[in-house]
Amino acid sequence: MKYEYLIVGAGLGGLECGYWLAQKGHSVCVLEKNPQIGGCLQSFHRNGISFDTGFHYVGGMAEGEILYQLFDQLNLLHLPWHQLDADCFDEVVWNGKTYPFANGYDAFAEKLSTFFPNQRQNILNYADFLRKSQPKMADLMAPANPESSSFQMMATSAYQFMNQMITDDTLRNVLCGTSLKMELHADTLPLYIFAQINGTFLQSAWRLKGRGTQIAESLANDIRAFGGEVRTNCPVSGFEEKGGAIVAALVRDERVECEHLIANIHPNALFPLLPENLLRKTYRRRISELPNSTGMFTVNLKLKKNKVKYVNHNLFVHNQADLWGVNPDATGRIRSAGVHFAVPEREDSVAHGTLFAENIDIFCPMKWSEVARWADSHVGRRGEEYEVFKQKKAEEAIALVAPYIPGFQENIDAYFTSTPLTYRDYTGTFEGSAYGIRKDYDHLFLTMLPPKTPVPNLYFTGQNVNFHGVFGVTVSALQLVKGLIKE
Ligand SMILES: Cc1cc2nc3c(=O)[nH]c(=O)nc-3n(C[C@H](O)[C@H](O)[C@H](O)COP(=O)(O)OP(=O)(O)OC[C@H]3O[C@@H](n4cnc5c(N)ncnc54)[C@H](O)[C@@H]3O)c2cc1C
Repeated sequence: MKYEYLIVGAGLGGLECGYWLAQKGHSVCVLEKNPQIGGCLQSFHRNGISFDTGFHYVGGMAEGEILYQLFDQLNLLHLPWHQLDADCFDEVVWNGKTYPFANGYDAFAEKLSTFFPNQRQNILNYADFLRKSQPKMADLMAPANPESSSFQMMATSAYQFMNQMITDDTLRNVLCGTSLKMELHADTLPLYIFAQINGTFLQSAWRLKGRGTQIAESLANDIRAFGGEVRTNCPVSGFEEKGGAIVAALVRDERVECEHLIANIHPNALFPLLPENLLRKTYRRRISELPNSTGMFTVNLKLKKNKVKYVNHNLFVHNQADLWGVNPDATGRIRSAGVHFAVPEREDSVAHGTLFAENIDIFCPMKWSEVARWADSHVGRRGEEYEVFKQKKAEEAIALVAPYIPGFQENIDAYFTSTPLTYRDYTGTFEGSAYGIRKDYDHLFLTMLPPKTPVPNLYFTGQNVNFHGVFGVTVSALQLVKGLIKE
């Protein structure tokens, strides 16, 4: 069987491309190396609880908002979406003081202004800027235009913009305080990415009740219903080329033939699999030498039964001088953490009218250099020293957030940890980078990976292309498929 579209990697980007192409009647096969689909949306089950790995919440999912429209097209609205509290969907802790983020641009500005009365006008301006920079569906479908405001924002520094707009240090750090969902890299982060991600969450914020894998499973089920295939335990180990195009992928001793190949994997994972003559060395080198965003350390915690109240918002706790890494913390201790409560699933998690949390995830940025000495090891076989390192980091993360979650520390039943090494081994992402290739406002054309490659039937999709996260990856998939169907 020869597929029109062969897709490598059943992460969100690969499955979304597969969905749209199969829905249009094309023959599609998605190949995934792991036993489980989803990539960063994978879940794992321990001690009777399902934990998420790289998915906690999304923004812009109320009726008519941008992700709602996209997920409507992908048949994902039927999943058990759970809205976070509109009057406080995120809470930032800065210098021991807490600041709530409310949904709605005006409500957000008014609420935060009560903490910074002298800065009210600046906060209103910031909220208005985020409101105006949100894309409409038509913008996402329009061809790239260097004159457009989105392109101009892509070529602007988020760090410089925020420093100019918000001169009060505490306010600026609070406004950036929920931005662990991107890499706050002062020298590179484009304003567009900062504004898109923060802006969609200000509209409305949602968790999934149950595992994040539900997103991947729904897409895969629909691909199969449209006549396509999604195959697990299929690590692609090479490709065959004919006349300068890819004609088949190699999976163990099988050849899977295709007309077009979509790579939903990091370019550094793809290049070693391609025949050497297929891409010029300069192209490979230019892309493979691009820096990647930092990785994550995560602590997935199971809580004792009915001891810690469920919190229907996220918590971002910081204990450092500078969120943008301009003044790195010399101690190497964990100084920032995001805390996500999973929506309780058991019926007996409600007692005396109170809803209790079953599990919590804490995640903290972690540089590859912290784990590089174990780079040659694999999951479950990294040795005692690594286990001690992880335990120390977990204790730091727990101690950082514990003062802001009543009853938390003494009611931990068990916890499990993962580092950038874990992400590297499970998703194949380079050096366990959480958000893929680092986009640079000053080197846009270098760091924005174009979906089209010099090989006429090879395309990229996923978080390395446009920007990361459920929203960014979905937009990239949509734009690629739109281009392919037109071709
Ligand atoms: C800790 C963490 C928390 C996050 N939280 C959020 C959040 O709350 N909200 C949000 O919007 N985003 C979040 N993100 C980001 C989001 O999860 C990712 O941007 C997105 O899921 C990436 O999808 P992808 O399809 O591009 O890549 P991936 O999910 O990495 O998928 C790539 C797939 O390719 C497979 N693969 C690799 N090599 C091969 C091969 N040779 N053969 C076959 N298959 C292969 C991998 O196994 C994997 O399944 C988070 C990320 C991290 C790391």
